[in-house]
Amino acid sequence: MHKLLARQLKKSFGKNCDFNTFSDELDGLFESISDAYEDYDHDRKILELTLEKNSYELTTANRLISDQNDSLIHQLKTLSRSRAFLTRLIDSVHMFIVTSNANLEVITVNKKFSGSLNKTYHHFLDIFPENDLTEKFRGELQSLLSNKLEVIHNDMELKDSLNNVLYISWSHTLVEDEQGNPIILSIGSDLTKRKEAEDALHWLAHHDPLTLIGNRRSFQYSLQHMLSSNSQGALVFIDVNHFKQINDFYGHSVGDLVLINIANALKKVTRSNDVISRLSGDEFTVILCRVNSEVISLVLDKLVTALNSHIILEDGSKLEYSVSIGVSLFPEHAHQQEQLIINADLAMYKAKKKGLGRWHLFSPETDDFSSLQTDNLQMRSIKNALEENRYQLNYQPILKLQDKTISHYEALIRQIDENGNLVYPGSFIPAAERMGLIQDIDEWVLEHVLKCLARELPSRPELVITVNISAPTLQEGDLPRLLVKLLEKYQVPCNHLIIELTETAYIDNFEEVLRNLTEIDALGVRIALDDFGVGFSSFSYLKRMPLSYVKLDGSYVKTLLQSHEDQVFVESLSNMVQAFGMKTIAEFVGDQATCNRLLELGVTYGQGYFIGKPQPYLATIDEVRKNIGMCEQ
Ligand code: C2E
Ligand code: MG
Ligand code: MG
Repeated sequence: MHKLLARQLKKSFGKNCDFNTFSDELDGLFESISDAYEDYDHDRKILELTLEKNSYELTTANRLISDQNDSLIHQLKTLSRSRAFLTRLIDSVHMFIVTSNANLEVITVNKKFSGSLNKTYHHFLDIFPENDLTEKFRGELQSLLSNKLEVIHNDMELKDSLNNVLYISWSHTLVEDEQGNPIILSIGSDLTKRKEAEDALHWLAHHDPLTLIGNRRSFQYSLQHMLSSNSQGALVFIDVNHFKQINDFYGHSVGDLVLINIANALKKVTRSNDVISRLSGDEFTVILCRVNSEVISLVLDKLVTALNSHIILEDGSKLEYSVSIGVSLFPEHAHQQEQLIINADLAMYKAKKKGLGRWHLFSPETDDFSSLQTDNLQMRSIKNALEENRYQLNYQPILKLQDKTISHYEALIRQIDENGNLVYPGSFIPAAERMGLIQDIDEWVLEHVLKCLARELPSRPELVITVNISAPTLQEGDLPRLLVKLLEKYQVPCNHLIIELTETAYIDNFEEVLRNLTEIDALGVRIALDDFGVGFSSFSYLKRMPLSYVKLDGSYVKTLLQSHEDQVFVESLSNMVQAFGMKTIAEFVGDQATCNRLLELGVTYGQGYFIGKPQPYLATIDEVRKNIGMCEQ
């Protein structure tokens, strides 16, 4: 019997009731009730189990939903972060990024785009300037939208907010937005800086950065173009006279100023279709268009007047400079570039020979082409030797005839040719004087003599060296200023240097020479007059020049013993020189007898092979005494 039924029966019939005493009918009833109780128990248990199961499932489902919720929130956060990152990325790249829809309406632009252009665009094509390529671009965009094209590349110029031109290289591709709509993604690289650098390189390749006019390359290109198009014109070669001296005396910044001045003057006096260029250091060219032999002289006069000019130096003084101009006409004088250049170059040398600040028009009939070419070659060889430092100094001792001591040494230049052979000054000094290169040579010698003095003076404190200086150097350059500079540079006291004035035939501005000599004398540098008695040397020079020595020309000395006239001349000259407070030096002393006679005639110093030949070193007194047969003393 079911426990609950038994308990209820005991409650109803008393604790001690005996179920076995119930009738069969009651037994059967109680059995059925007990079964019903059992069934109820069973059903309840099943219900409880079902409830329990359902509650578990509910909890699980709840947890699942909550988890899903969390993950959704996380995903949303990640999505918004990556969207912000993408926006930042797009905004921070140095590229123009634009998106537009299929109707070509602008959807987004990045910061670089909006910041640079500072303008709002609604229609995509408004971004790009309307030009010949706009129609083509429009067509390409339709092809892109219809997937016929994968990408469009195009380079466009845009104006930024400050109206500067930007060079942008664009790529346009098709992408989809979240809803799957077609979007044109346009990415533009800003090539402005690269383009500017390329332009600068191109400019530099064709221009001279100092004067801002064309360079050799652009000159050659323009000339070739003119010649091949059968144009008529003139090639003008311009060389600045004594430019090296200007640079050396006044410094490179002054030299640069002269070049800039010349270029500016050229710009002013030429027409816009003439081509002006600077070929190298001090060489300029002008290609004059459509000029002929009738008008050329007018143009050249104008050029010379404009180019022979001056600049004002920092100390307020005036530095005058001049040019020499050579001209060759085309096609009259040559059809080929090389020949035309040679002609103009030769004409320029001819102009230099005429004097400073002149022009010369090449003339095939009258210009002695071969002599011009020889001069040209010689000029090149002198210039090359200077550039390559292929010069050497020899020193010849000058003896005091009275006590047989060395008074000083004369520095004599030798050129070393390409094969290492010595070339004597007679072969190149006259050419250098004619062609305006003597100043360069004299300057080279001065610098090297002062170097030698600075080196030798500590061990030979009495050392004095005389340097040959040609008259053109005194006439055209600023020798006093150069001397001050060099004496200071090498820390050499001025009394160790003597300037020997040679080639007085070239003096055509005596006052200028005198002014410079007076300044040199005031510095304390002594002056000698070379080769007196021949050529153009005049007695008035003795009277007016501040001289310490007069060098008697060798032609009087060589034949002295045989010629009574020469002896009379030497004696009277010595007397006069002494009366002016100067001393006489005799060159070409060949023997002892000449030495003795010179002394009797009042000559103070002697120089010659008998005393000592020019040597690349400073001969000692012992060596000199040995030469003159005094080694036993
Ligand atoms: P100069 O200044 O009258 O120099 C004397 C020349 O005579 C030198 O010739 C010298 O070597 C030569 N000589 C000296 N004693 C004798 C001798 O006893 N017999 C012979 N036969 N010759 C003798 P060099 O060196 O050939 O110079 C020739 C000229 O070239 C010089 O004449 C001078 O006018 C010029 N020169 C030389 N060096 C320079 C220089 O550095 N600058 C300049 N501007 N001219 C120079
Ligand atoms: Mg001399
Ligand atoms: Mg001499």
